[in-house]
Amino acid sequence: MNEPAKKEQLVPDESQPQEQTLSKEKTLAEQAPPSYECRSCGYTYVPSKGDNQGNVAAGTLFTELSNDWRCPVCGVRKTQFINIGAQDAPSGFAENLDYGLGINRLTPSQKNILIFGALGLGFIFFLSLYGLN
Ligand code: FE
Repeated sequence: MNEPAKKEQLVPDESQPQEQTLSKEKTLAEQAPPSYECRSCGYTYVPSKGDNQGNVAAGTLFTELSNDWRCPVCGVRKTQFINIGAQDAPSGFAENLDYGLGINRLTPSQKNILIFGALGLGFIFFLSLYGLN
C-alpha cells in the first residue's frame, strides 16, 4: 500500500537548479581548457601548446582564436573543429588526486602508457621464459 509514496520519492527534486549542483562537481578535465580536433584531418589544437605555425601563443583558448585562423595541417576553418575535452589534465576530481599512489594525478594518455607498457613488459617476461633450458 506504500507504493505511491515510494514513487514520489524517486522523482528528482526540481526545486534546486541543476546547473548549480553540477558546477560544484566538475572533474579537473572538465575545468581545464578543452582541446579541439579538426574533423577533416584529425589535427588537435591544444590550448597549452598553442599553434607555432599560426603565431598563436601557448595558453590561447580555442574560442579566443581569430575567425580567420585555419587548421595548420589542412587549412579548414575554425567551424570544422569539434570540442574533444581537455587532453592534458587528470580525469578525476581534485580531492582524489592524493589517492592511488600518485596514479590519479596522471593524464589519460599517461595512464595508457603505464597500462600497456606494463602489459608489454609482462609479455616480454613470459617470452623470456623460453630462454630457460
Ligand atoms: Fe585539419
